[in-house]
Amino acid sequence: MNNINFNVPYLTGKETFYIHDAVASGKISGNGKYTKMCQSFFEQKYDFNKCLLTTSCTDALEMAALLLNIEQGDEVIMPSYTFVSTANAFVLRGAKIVFIDSRLDHPGIWEENIEELITEKTKVIVPVHYAGVACDMDVIMDIANKYNLFVVEDAAQAIDSFYIGRDGSKKALGSIGHLSAFSFHETKNIISGEGGMLVINDKQFEKRAEIIWEKGTNRSAFFKGEVDKYGWVDMGSSFLPSEIVAAFLWAQLENLENIQSRRIELWNTYFDKLKEWAFSKNILLPFIPVNSSNNAHMFYLIFENVKLRDQFIAFLKNENIMAVFHYISLHKSPFYIEKHDGRNLAESDRYSDCLVRLPMYFELEIDKVIKKIIQF
Ligand SMILES: *Cc1c(COP(=O)(O)O)cnc(C)c1O
Repeated sequence: MNNINFNVPYLTGKETFYIHDAVASGKISGNGKYTKMCQSFFEQKYDFNKCLLTTSCTDALEMAALLLNIEQGDEVIMPSYTFVSTANAFVLRGAKIVFIDSRLDHPGIWEENIEELITEKTKVIVPVHYAGVACDMDVIMDIANKYNLFVVEDAAQAIDSFYIGRDGSKKALGSIGHLSAFSFHETKNIISGEGGMLVINDKQFEKRAEIIWEKGTNRSAFFKGEVDKYGWVDMGSSFLPSEIVAAFLWAQLENLENIQSRRIELWNTYFDKLKEWAFSKNILLPFIPVNSSNNAHMFYLIFENVKLRDQFIAFLKNENIMAVFHYISLHKSPFYIEKHDGRNLAESDRYSDCLVRLPMYFELEIDKVIKKIIQF
């Protein structure tokens, strides 16, 4: 049997067409036609106040930390079970990361535990919508409002996923926090190789976000005719992707519905065909709470212990199927273990030890994978 990889980037077929168009237009640096088309697409479809494409989600998170003026000693609350960039963006500004445990029923932030971790130094809460599953944003926004904190959604995996609020309203993930960050890395649902986006929902950050994005200059305002010359007005860096990247992304966005419906079909197939097997073996399947939609970013299994999980990965590898574990708790990482305050984060560790992600991509031959899995 051929190798079944964990991820294979899906191409819609139009990527090189739009890239060719961008190149032929003679405008290939950032903030051109394709960048604007992508940004408006997101703003309209998901009710995001303002979007800026970035070179990665990591960069969008770094922009968020700059915008919020994070300083030495500020405290930022986030799950330990996340990607390093969630933390690094704030560590780069001198922040102390206060890690919080994951929920029992899914790897998202344990909302109930946030309040007791808040101190005078707390500035930001960063919920991570793991696997595109919504954190309970009503609870998180209530706490943020009560203590005057900012919320930055790490929505790297959360494109086209929604939160159903307690008033019944349906809001796109990334549209709720003051700022949000998305990723278009090739392992995500919608891709551009490397790529990302900052969403600015709190209007007070709109102008400065453009300045930081444009290397600390008011170049964007200049091209909009708002100022008559441009220069260095603030901190900043080079966060814009080129038009070549945006053109690639545009081809993906045109096919978003198609990509999403295929992924959801795959996810449902895994769920339906694995549930009896999983139940008989005490293996857990992903849990989608009633207040979240499912964007089928990921299909994972949770084993009873690390030994079984690793045996399963090895078993599939032997069949040339690549299944992978995910994050190692950041509070136990070589970089942060000494800086962590010592609290035990048992659920985060459980997901580190026991979770395995199954192959998930548009052209996956899923029946072959399922057939092997149920032999385990
Ligand atoms: C993928 C991912 C990132 C980083 O995205 P890049 O675009 O690769 O920088 C950050 N946070 C989470 C939760 C992710 O899954």
